Amino acid sequence: MQTTFGTGQPGRENSDLAFTDPLTGLGNHRRFFDKVDRLISDRADDPAPFTVGILDLDGFKPINDLFGHKAGDDILIQVAMRLRASMDGHSTVCRIGADEFAFLYPMVFSEEQAAEKSRMLIEILSAPYDVGERTARLSASVGCSLFYSGDETTEILINKAETALYHAKRSGRGRVVVYTREMEEAAKRVTRIEQALRRAVSAGEVEPHFQPIVDLNSRRTIGFETLARWTDRDLGMVPPSVFIPIAEERGIIGPLSQLVLRKATEAARSWPKDLFLSFNLSPSQLVDQNTGLHILAILERTGFDPHRLEIEITETGLMTDPASAEKIVEDLRRVGIRVSLDDFGTGQSSLGRLREFHFDKLKIDRAFVSSILDDRPSEHIIRAILAMCEGLGMDVVAEGIEEEAQADRLVQFGCAGGQGYLFGKPVDADATLGYLRDSYRGALYAKAI
Ligand code: C2E
Ligand code: MG
Ligand code: MG
Repeated sequence: MQTTFGTGQPGRENSDLAFTDPLTGLGNHRRFFDKVDRLISDRADDPAPFTVGILDLDGFKPINDLFGHKAGDDILIQVAMRLRASMDGHSTVCRIGADEFAFLYPMVFSEEQAAEKSRMLIEILSAPYDVGERTARLSASVGCSLFYSGDETTEILINKAETALYHAKRSGRGRVVVYTREMEEAAKRVTRIEQALRRAVSAGEVEPHFQPIVDLNSRRTIGFETLARWTDRDLGMVPPSVFIPIAEERGIIGPLSQLVLRKATEAARSWPKDLFLSFNLSPSQLVDQNTGLHILAILERTGFDPHRLEIEITETGLMTDPASAEKIVEDLRRVGIRVSLDDFGTGQSSLGRLREFHFDKLKIDRAFVSSILDDRPSEHIIRAILAMCEGLGMDVVAEGIEEEAQADRLVQFGCAGGQGYLFGKPVDADATLGYLRDSYRGALYAKAI
């Protein structure tokens, strides 16, 4: 039976059900859209702005997994009760997704007020929740947008709040972001890059560049790190710090990575056999169990010896799903691929991780190396890392060495490996061959291959 308004009691009940979230008793997304539609038409001749917001619980999924679905439902009911209790007579809160709530503040007229109200909601939700005998804690992120003109539709307003929420989530937990026009510009830029990148990956236009890694004592090159490079005909050169995160977020990292690894191993086949090739894996690739299979298939196809390959992963990559990461790492190590911990010392480092996982190598982040000469704490940290690596039987590479004096100091501390502009910037496959020819001095190089 079709649901209609005002057609007697049974119809009314049905329509209420269609507009209600059965778990929490709050309105659902339809109710929310309907409320905003009505307010927009009420405000057609009235210049007063109003606020919509979307609130998303941070880390609800792990709580659900840890405490079970029944407990997850109980928490959602408690969240709904707290949110409802915090609304004044004009305002509305609805549940619009599994752990997403939307609110409408008709009397909130400014961005400052919107942010303040949102912070209050986060505060209210941060108090502990009873889950049987135990308690759980939650935080939440909020994105808001303000209605300013009659040109905006409910859909546009909610999309803007979603964009703001996305920015809030990206910047950490428990944040509030109010939508701005710059955000829209940034979102458009990301979409433009995403589209161009998809095209470039299918056309095979992302290239590996190679940066030498040296033995700090002898200055001999021992291997190269692969670094992806992309120049788009309209956007120009886009740095990896921009396109890699977009590739991760938009699900392009798998094909991009396979393309770069294939080209890199093809290039490295003609290098002297004692040189290793290292390759970065993104955090999202460590939650995808196909990653290992793809890498092995590429090595098989290009005939590159797995014992010459190293995979660089970061601590962030291990955090999302440690069990999955561990399985992928084990699969790779079984065929002789070595594993390095990249950018050590930044991000959310945990020494515990070094006990749980076995790494073959650790790369000390550039942040410590760049301040080694004039900052006592950096010096102590580097020495401590070196002592720890020795104890744990791990090789070490210091990243970002730009000056002789930094290299000298690192040698003095007993650091064996180094990488940085001092020894060579990342360059393409042809230039790398040229570099190898120079460093192996002609005849020796010819013999080596
Ligand atoms: P990373 O893996 O830590 O790579 C080292 C970065 O430091 C590279 O930046 C390199 O060009 C830069 N670098 C090396 N020596 C020096 C130095 O002496 N001084 C300074 N200032 N910088 C130095 P790049 O190429 O821009 O790459 C940035 C990050 O992007 C990489 O950090 C890596 O996390 C990521 N990345 C690059 N290529 C790939 C790829 O193929 N796959 C994945 N998943 N990530 C990649
Ligand atoms: Mg790296
Ligand atoms: Mg690094």
